[in-house]
Amino acid sequence: MTRPDVVIVGAGPAGLRAAADLAGAAEVLVLEREAEAGGIPRHSDHTGYGVRDLRRVLTGPKYARLLRERAEAAGATILTGATVTGWAGERALEVTAPSGRITVEARAVVLATGARERPRPARLIPGDRPSGVFTTGQLQQIVHGGQPGVGERAVVVGGEAVSWSAVLTLRHAGCRTVLMTTEYPRPDAYLLFHGLGRIALRTRVATRTRVTRIVGRGRVEAVEVEDLRTGRRRTVGCDTVVLTGDWIPDNELARAAGLPIDPASRSPLVDTALRTPRPGVFAAGNLVHPVDTADVAALDGAAVAGHVRAYLDGQPSPGEALPLRAEAPFRWVSPQLLRPGDPAPAGGGRLLLWSDEHVAVPCVVVRQDGRTVAERRLWWPAAPGRVFRVPSGVLDGVDATGGPVTIGIRR
Ligand SMILES: Cc1cc2nc3c(=O)[nH]c(=O)nc-3n(C[C@H](O)[C@H](O)[C@H](O)COP(=O)(O)OP(=O)(O)OC[C@H]3O[C@@H](n4cnc5c(N)ncnc54)[C@H](O)[C@@H]3O)c2cc1C
Repeated sequence: MTRPDVVIVGAGPAGLRAAADLAGAAEVLVLEREAEAGGIPRHSDHTGYGVRDLRRVLTGPKYARLLRERAEAAGATILTGATVTGWAGERALEVTAPSGRITVEARAVVLATGARERPRPARLIPGDRPSGVFTTGQLQQIVHGGQPGVGERAVVVGGEAVSWSAVLTLRHAGCRTVLMTTEYPRPDAYLLFHGLGRIALRTRVATRTRVTRIVGRGRVEAVEVEDLRTGRRRTVGCDTVVLTGDWIPDNELARAAGLPIDPASRSPLVDTALRTPRPGVFAAGNLVHPVDTADVAALDGAAVAGHVRAYLDGQPSPGEALPLRAEAPFRWVSPQLLRPGDPAPAGGGRLLLWSDEHVAVPCVVVRQDGRTVAERRLWWPAAPGRVFRVPSGVLDGVDATGGPVTIGIRR
């Protein structure tokens, strides 16, 4: 039995930053199932990491190394090859570690297990079952590890930022992306990525299309692509398919704990202090917003560290929370629990939302008990495939004694 003050599950940007900020004040143990700490950025061999948290632009591996070094320098213990497999009590975890099975009981637990892209079986894509089909995460692991397996012509399913990351990795591996497909009527990545990608990487995005079949014996030979406007199908020859986006949080431990789960995002419910409803159990990073960028996950880690410290110092349990729910076109909102007196959300006081539609100049509406609490026009678009940020000041007029609060867009 190991008894640190705080146990953090997951050594990605959220977990490592939380560990670095907590380690001076408490004994911190980080459990990571992979052989190396750092989370997704370890394999993401391109630039674009660290903007909001470190005010620098780094490659994924450099960013991961820096966060790891900072956590260790602050005094946190990072145990790698250690998979948390279940709960042995309210704040006690069962762990399979290189030394065998151990139980870790802590005064506070931070879940920072991240999110992953849904693999092929979960996407129900019909056809043959050849090799050569990857998610972006799998692709980057094999390319970063120098393993073979990537072909010469790829179709990338998805048109969001991570999809362009896949295109870059494919190019690095000597594989040309012949087509990107998205079911949305416009590419879902920022215009900058899309414009640069089209010109610099000579890659075309086919909008309102979907892959309806994968063809190939042994290795991928082609995909069938359907035009959703006309129903017409065509065959595109390729030897590699990359399935991007379509995120699911790594929520197994949250579910095993019986924590309430948001039915749309599948994330555990948290309040603006990243507390779950179980006292002393917190959740941060892409586990609670699948997905945002790594710097936002790290800023969650910084915020949760402060809230864990307050909990360890004996801050009284918070009272009842009001639910905050997303209304169409929003799929989900994070955080989902509101309490009077609680702090603004992590990362600059923004609510994070996921939109299923592109709305160029959205007017966000907050409602409670049939009354409009706030209407705010925002000058940045809500778009599928990326997080939409709303200043949490829109909640200022919420009645703490009232009913559930909704957030949507005025049509
Ligand atoms: C292909 C790709 C490209 C990206 N490009 C960028 C970019 O350019 N810039 C940017 O800012 N962001 C980028 N991102 C997003 C960024 O990587 C994530 O936002 C960030 O890694 C999230 O951090 P996290 O700590 O929440 O989760 P993760 O980084 O996913 O870390 C979670 C960790 O928890 C561990 N874990 C899970 N379950 C258990 C368990 N039961 N026991 C023990 N350990 C467990 C996992 O092994 C993992 O290491 C990219 C993501 C992808 C997939």
